[in-house]
Amino acid sequence: MTRFIFITGGVVSSLGKGLTTASIGLLLESRGLRIRIQKLDPYLNVDPGTMNPFQHGEVYVLDDGTETDLDLGHYERFTGAPLSRASNVTSGRIYSEVIRKERAGEYLGQTVQVIPHVTDEIKASIEALGGDDVDVVLTEIGGTVGDIEGQAFLEAIRQFRLDKGARNVLYIHMTLLPFLRASGEIKTKPTQQSVGKLREIGIQADVLICRCEKPITQELRRKISLYCNVEPQNVLDEKDVDYSIYEVPLVLHDQGLDNLIAERLGLPDTPADLTDWRATVEIIKQPDREVEIAVVGKYIDLQDSYKSIYESIAHGGIANRARVNVRRVHAEDIDRLGADVALAGVDGVLVPGGFGVRGVHGKIGAVRHAREQGIPYFGICYGLQMAVIEVARDLLGLAGADTTENDRNAVDPVICLLEEQRAVTRMGGTMRLGAQLCHVLGGRAREAYGQDLVSERHRHRYELNNAYRERLAEVGLFVTGVNEELDLAEIIEIPAHPWFVAVQYHPEFKSSPTRAHPLFASFVRAALAHRAARGGENAAAASAAGPAAC
Ligand code: GLN
Repeated sequence: MTRFIFITGGVVSSLGKGLTTASIGLLLESRGLRIRIQKLDPYLNVDPGTMNPFQHGEVYVLDDGTETDLDLGHYERFTGAPLSRASNVTSGRIYSEVIRKERAGEYLGQTVQVIPHVTDEIKASIEALGGDDVDVVLTEIGGTVGDIEGQAFLEAIRQFRLDKGARNVLYIHMTLLPFLRASGEIKTKPTQQSVGKLREIGIQADVLICRCEKPITQELRRKISLYCNVEPQNVLDEKDVDYSIYEVPLVLHDQGLDNLIAERLGLPDTPADLTDWRATVEIIKQPDREVEIAVVGKYIDLQDSYKSIYESIAHGGIANRARVNVRRVHAEDIDRLGADVALAGVDGVLVPGGFGVRGVHGKIGAVRHAREQGIPYFGICYGLQMAVIEVARDLLGLAGADTTENDRNAVDPVICLLEEQRAVTRMGGTMRLGAQLCHVLGGRAREAYGQDLVSERHRHRYELNNAYRERLAEVGLFVTGVNEELDLAEIIEIPAHPWFVAVQYHPEFKSSPTRAHPLFASFVRAALAHRAARGGENAAAASAAGPAAC
């Protein structure tokens, strides 16, 4: 019988509910339980694929091509739970389905209402994850208790306990305990109010996880317990972690969270085996060495816009027992300051995915700098396209080389649309999306992967134009990975360069702290070698110049 855990949030947004949900998933898996995770997002977009990174951070892509919220990235980095279209459901999806059914006459003349029709649809999407081979389904509810959009979701999960029985459903509520510096006090009132708000709907939280700058005292725990009607041992704190988000599961485990979940839901009392995870956290806390890598992008100020890229770089660091300091470089700063200045002292350059013309000139400048200076270069999606344009312009002398994304009438369309993409006019869900097989033919990519056939995830429309493959090879840029079926270039390399690899897919969606993606591990290794070759001291001085820690 599948048990269901719901995670809601109160007081403020951005409490790290996704991380906490992922951490609970890890703890349960480390007790040998089979889990599934999903996020229910109350906004009306059908999926986040069309949302601006400024508003919503990165779009995370699953194997099945679903464009999802970035919290699903946490789920995959922390757990082995299989994710699919069923793992991220928005109000937009729920309402489209309800309206489709109404139009099809499936409600047989009933008045279609939020309760029961919308709530039934929500419950069905939760239920869909359960089954004989699943011990626990974790469902995170996006947004904050009290949001208008979230009402139907809370109502649905309230009904869920009634449907499934109290012993099979657990409510975990995350809140904030603000610390008022002036009075030196931790305040509990907002938490009391958000727990009260949940009670108004009919949900009594079983466990409270309180974000707080400071650990909470026993006295405070008793007070929260009394006012919120939650047993004191079920009031946990998730204080800010010192080193890395990967400490969060350990913080929760040390307070007995997985034991209390197991007890409350009648799950086996097998202890959690966190050996590998602990070893990883130890490396993060005490790395043997450091290196600095620049990420050159358009949304560089926003932590969440390149979330999986930053995490994967850190994983590459862990695989090499190194701490990677990331210098976030605005593509436009490459133009403004010059690549020499903006990239001075870095030992690796990464250009991530992107869209549109803004910042393109700077990205191409970053590629040129890395190529000419022999600095390890890793291009991802748009980063591959920028590399092809740079080489075509500089080494093939094709001044008009471009992507047709930015110049429809480019003289030399080295990056162009596939035939099947030409007819597409709608934005949502129409890119080349999801997992596809890539034959790795050779080069550093083959060395890194250690295998010939890999599966990687895509999210793009444009491709390397095969008409230019041979000429690019003549100047030293080779295709080292292909999609055989579609005859598309997936990996390009410059073998004469110390490490110049670019991929059309998104390896950052397949990396985790305990299993770094091979290309990220190899890239960081190359950056460490570059740093060693040019003398560690220079590099140390450069990294002391103020890069943001990854
Ligand atoms: N804009 C490019 C394309 O659509 C690259 C997309 C990306 O980097 N994800 O092909």
